[in-house]
Amino acid sequence: MNTNNQAGVVARKRPGTRAAVARRGMPGWAALAALAGFVVAAAVAQNVHPLQRNVPLDWFKEVPPVTGLHPVVAAGRDKLVAQAAKLGIQVVITDGFRSSQEQDALYRKGRGDGGTIVTKAKGGESYHNYGLAIDFALRTPAGKVIWDMKYDGNGNGRADWLEVVAIAKKLGFAWGGDWKSFKDYPHLQMDFGYSIRDLQNGWRPPVQG
Ligand SMILES: [Zn+2]
Repeated sequence: MNTNNQAGVVARKRPGTRAAVARRGMPGWAALAALAGFVVAAAVAQNVHPLQRNVPLDWFKEVPPVTGLHPVVAAGRDKLVAQAAKLGIQVVITDGFRSSQEQDALYRKGRGDGGTIVTKAKGGESYHNYGLAIDFALRTPAGKVIWDMKYDGNGNGRADWLEVVAIAKKLGFAWGGDWKSFKDYPHLQMDFGYSIRDLQNGWRPPVQG
């Protein structure tokens, strides 16, 4: 009882204390500086430069929409097709850049639009949406497009599919078949160190001329 009374006294004192601070007035800039300090400290804790990663690019400028493959990815795709052809393997590029709307349509497959699930990514969640991924398949001499990972069309004792993957990796692609959760065997991407979150926040890999 006595303790409660004391606590009550303290509690009643507090508004007075806060009011005194308010009367003295904490300058607005000091509050802003404290906030900025907190943001920088949080960024340092994550070991990133605050203006490099924590502040989205679109705070400063309009991010132009991605409408095609990144030139480095496009060049990688062309080299992949050419180098595979030298081994007697015909690579078909079945997909490259995909708009967010196209991605959403793909996401609905197997989730209401019938068929089976083909992606775990909604619009804006796939590297295809930023022009950083391609999908491939193989074409047989008869002209049939196949996704057979054991097919050995050039007869060298190695699966053509994995030969293509090996070339792709040498060219700098990461392979969706290496993913832990959702294996995406036709999928190749170059992320340039950018996470999907970075890309959603408006960060883009530089385009060199
Ligand atoms: Zn893909």
